[in-house]
Amino acid sequence: MRLLLLGGTGEARALAARLHPGIDIVSSLAGRVPDPALPVGPVRIGGFGGVDGLARWLRDNGIGAVVDATHPFAATMTAHAAQVCGHLGLPHLVLARPAWDPGAARVVGSDVEAAEAVAQQGFSRVFLTNGRSGVAPFAGSDAWFLIRVVTAPDSDVLPVHHELLLSRGPYGYDDEYALLRDRAIDVLVTKNSGGELTSAKLAAAADLGVAVVMIDRPPLPAGVTTVSTVQEAVDWVAGLQVG
Ligand code: NAP
Repeated sequence: MRLLLLGGTGEARALAARLHPGIDIVSSLAGRVPDPALPVGPVRIGGFGGVDGLARWLRDNGIGAVVDATHPFAATMTAHAAQVCGHLGLPHLVLARPAWDPGAARVVGSDVEAAEAVAQQGFSRVFLTNGRSGVAPFAGSDAWFLIRVVTAPDSDVLPVHHELLLSRGPYGYDDEYALLRDRAIDVLVTKNSGGELTSAKLAAAADLGVAVVMIDRPPLPAGVTTVSTVQEAVDWVAGLQVG
């Protein structure tokens, strides 16, 4: 049986390492970032061309099951995989890392709502970590922004006052603490990505009394089988082999 592993996350790479070479897997990356961290085993890169393209690709490549280990905010890819697997009757699993406890954070539903929350509360030194595609709603703000992204956003979506920090996690507590303190940040904007690779900023913000605006996750498609750990995904795949 050949398995498609929709990836782009640390969990997907860890799962590929557990399955390859015993299971015939193909990992798929969106191709958003140059020089992506690659999983072991065969990899394809780039969109499938919507639901029709995905259905065609699954058939053409003899795929017997799909594990979706994409980023929790990759809602379109996740919806497409659920729809197509349902239609084709393919076993389908979503591996979604646990969400962070928002604690005292202001929880909002979108990047736009996050920008509104920052403006309403009058914050002036913003640490923006919600990704390249989440910068545009802040473009008209007079506040100062530290914008941390893997690849630079287009210049026309950047707010007037900003510093661009091009980097990729993981990030440790001491560095996050120093960054928040040295830039005199008063609010951190983040997606609720979950996981440990980028959670240190939350602990540092809490210890420095920095406010947090947290963008809630999009809901998963109804009825999908979901696990939260790599081990559970390995067990699910092992069950397919037996069944
Ligand atoms: P998305 O909005 O769910 O996907 C948009 C399209 O990208 C999909 O319809 C699909 O194109 C293609 N795609 C996405 N993931 C793919 C994969 N693993 N393999 C092949 N094609 C894939 O996801 P997104 O645009 O990647 O990201 C949405 C949000 O998630 C952003 O806020 C981003 O910051 C965050 N995020 C994503 C990743 C990631 O690796 N995907 C990593 C970190 C953060 P077709 O319709 O043509 O098939």
